[in-house]
Parts: sequence; structure tokens; C-alpha cells
Amino acid sequence: MQFQGEDRIINLELIEKLWPAFEERIPDNKAAVAFLLETLLVNSALHCHCGIIIQNRVKSKKKRTVMCSVCKKEIWITSSTLFRRVKQLKAWLGAIYLMGHGAVVTSNKLSELGGTAISTALNIVRKIGLVIEGERQQEAIDTSYKIASMEFVSIFCRRSMLTLPKVHPSIALEDAPSQEQDSESADDAQSPEADLSPNELEILHLLGTEPMTQDQICDLTKLSVSEVGGALVVLELEGLIEAHPGGRFSKKKAQKQANADAATMHTRNKEKDIYMPSMGALVGRVIDMTQSIRGGISRKYLQIYLASMWCQLDRARWNETSLLHAFIRSAEICYQDILDYESPTIVSIRA
Ligand SMILES: [Zn+2]
Repeated sequence: MQFQGEDRIINLELIEKLWPAFEERIPDNKAAVAFLLETLLVNSALHCHCGIIIQNRVKSKKKRTVMCSVCKKEIWITSSTLFRRVKQLKAWLGAIYLMGHGAVVTSNKLSELGGTAISTALNIVRKIGLVIEGERQQEAIDTSYKIASMEFVSIFCRRSMLTLPKVHPSIALEDAPSQEQDSESADDAQSPEADLSPNELEILHLLGTEPMTQDQICDLTKLSVSEVGGALVVLELEGLIEAHPGGRFSKKKAQKQANADAATMHTRNKEKDIYMPSMGALVGRVIDMTQSIRGGISRKYLQIYLASMWCQLDRARWNETSLLHAFIRSAEICYQDILDYESPTIVSIRA
């Protein structure tokens, strides 16, 4: 497996430089809430149900709330934003900060920095990608390049082509060429299924098209109920498995591409299928960067990763503030929207 370390090292160095600066400003979740409140107030983005836009901070007894000066109701600071019900606000703002400054954020790295579960970090990374994708679709003039998603096959085939059901996943990982010494990079860039833990890999390889209950999976893997439960959440988030009635799970079947197109979110501007063969250089760059930094991605989320890359490539358009503002004005994206997301056959890329 080819591995190019340069982008990865540059990215890690950038993150190492950025994170202390972020933590100085936002050391914990409390500071994150205060920062968000300030941003919402300055941008007149905090609304009360009575119709008033909150402009002043009126103290409220409950945490994470302010009081409406008109109807005296307590309003959740995060309720009118995509941060609704988010517990680890610091990790969310941290990811936005890093991406706003041009870094590529992987779920492993974010989980390590922000102290969140991998599933939470994955959710954060995906949702930010969807927000950026939403912005792309709302641009007055669509200047995206249209490329067949199959052009990216070399970065996402790994997840689906790695069929080693008889081999324990840890063996597969040990077999991978190890060019870097730290274990983090081995997990993140060199393992064929970049973001998955050994437990998740084991369950993924165990599951077939016939649905299995959580108990069956526990029996067969000898993992605990909570380990299996956690792994199933991640695998479902990754779009690698699907849930069935009765708490059963199976490996996700490849969807027909027509379905994939129909299921794409925000299809308000039906994009023309313009194929631009001259885009080789950009595609090559995206593939190199993805291989180096993420190891591989799933086809299902390709468009989201491409959108995230726009943030990184177009430094004039994107910064920390513009990304946070995109988050504040974004239409609601629920957990199910992320699970259901399917990249279109023709993907869009902006640079
Ligand atoms: Zn009110």
C-alpha cells in the first residue's frame, strides 16, 4: 500500500501549533459555551420563541441558558444552532478552529485532542463536512468541478475491498508496512480502514448480509455488551453496517447508484452532470492528501470529505469565523441525516 507521509506530517505539525492557541482561548466546555454565546449575541443569532432576538446577556439560573428580557423565559444557548444537545462543545469548536485554519481533522486526532469518544469525533467531522457542503450548494454560482466519484476509487476501495473474514483484523494491521513509529499514525493512515478500532474491525468482518443480534455478536467475538454496542454505533455512523428491526445488524449492501443520487441531501439545485477530464491534477492532489492524512475514506461520505477539502484548499473563502458562521446559519442536520447520507455518482469539488 502506497503511503505518502509529507501531507500527513505537515498537517500534524499545523495541528500541534494550532491546538495550544485554541485551548488558551477555550480551555473547557464552560468557556466554549461562553464563546458561543458571545458569537451568537454579536451576530444577532440567538432567538427566543416569543420572536425576540436576544441582544443582551441576562443571567439565568440554569447552565447554558440566558433569559429573554421580554417574556422572561430561559433559552438554551445552543438550541437554535447545530450545537443543540451537544455536550462536548469544546471539541466541536476545536474542530471548527482547526479546519478554519486549514488543518485536516480526522476523527482519531479530534478524539485524542478533544477527549471525546471516536463516535462523537466522527459525528463532528461529518457534520462540519455537511455544513460546508450545504454552503457549496447555496453559492449563487456553482463553480464546482464535477467528477465521477469512481475517479476516487483508489482511496475508498480499501474499506470495501478489504475482505479478510478468516484473518483476525489485528493480523492484517500488523502486516501493514510500518514506516512511522508512533502508533497514532499507524492507526490513522496505514490501516486499511482508517478510523476503525480493532473491535470495530472484528465486528465488521464478522457481519455478513444476514442480520445478527447484539447478543450473537457478543458470543462470537467474546467482547462485552458495551464494547459491541459502542462499535456498532461507530460502524453504523461510518455507513458500513445497517440496523434492522429487533436490534439486529448486517453489513451494508452496496446501494444502487440511482438511489444514491436520490438520497443526496440539499438537492435544491440539481447540478448538471458535467464531467471535466482535465481535472486530473486536482483529483490527484485530493487522492494524495487523503491517502496521506486519512488513509482512506468510504465512498458513501466522499462528497463530505471533498467539501471539507474545499475549506482547506480555499484559504481566502474559509477561516475560523466563516466556518462558525456557516454552522450558525445552517439548516438543521440531524444524526439520521448523517447516517442516511450517500454521495452522488457525480461529485462536486471546489478548490
Ligand atoms: Zn422571549
